[in-house]
Amino acid sequence: MTKPVNPRGTPIKEAEAVGIEFPVVGKARYNYTTGEALGVFLAGLKQGRILGTVCKRCGRVFVPPRMYCSYCFRPVDGWVEARDEGVVVTAVASYIEATRARAEKARVVGVIKLEVPGYKFDDHFFPGIMHYICVDDEAVKSMGIFGMRVRARWRPVEQRVGSITDIECFEPAGP
Ligand SMILES: [Zn+2]
Repeated sequence: MTKPVNPRGTPIKEAEAVGIEFPVVGKARYNYTTGEALGVFLAGLKQGRILGTVCKRCGRVFVPPRMYCSYCFRPVDGWVEARDEGVVVTAVASYIEATRARAEKARVVGVIKLEVPGYKFDDHFFPGIMHYICVDDEAVKSMGIFGMRVRARWRPVEQRVGSITDIECFEPAGP
């Protein structure tokens, strides 16, 4: 009987790797299919709207949207529009860029609990969006950012491409 092959393979020893030329794949071009929910969400961003879906059985609103409620195991009932305004529920000062490079200056990243007219949410499940928050990192250190009201700072219409970066960041909305 032959010994089964280890599906995880055999790790290469460092001595074996010396002198090996690893092939470099050229610039890969590909299209990514967003699917219905994310496609509508991204098209909404281009129009300056934050769209989500709602499950009427449990009352949950999903932002970014999903086509199925994973709590009720059923399709969602329709679309809702969230306000581009909300409250910071958590935030960190990050010294790591999205490219994983080390940043000279910290950027604040956080989760914003969004408001949807006609719906109330508790702190356990709410439509939320993770994004940059345009405040000094002192706001995180002093804890002043938690509970802060913020509003989306949209890029000018002609610069929007249907991406989460069509929102530059969330900035303090004032009282
Ligand atoms: Zn549900």
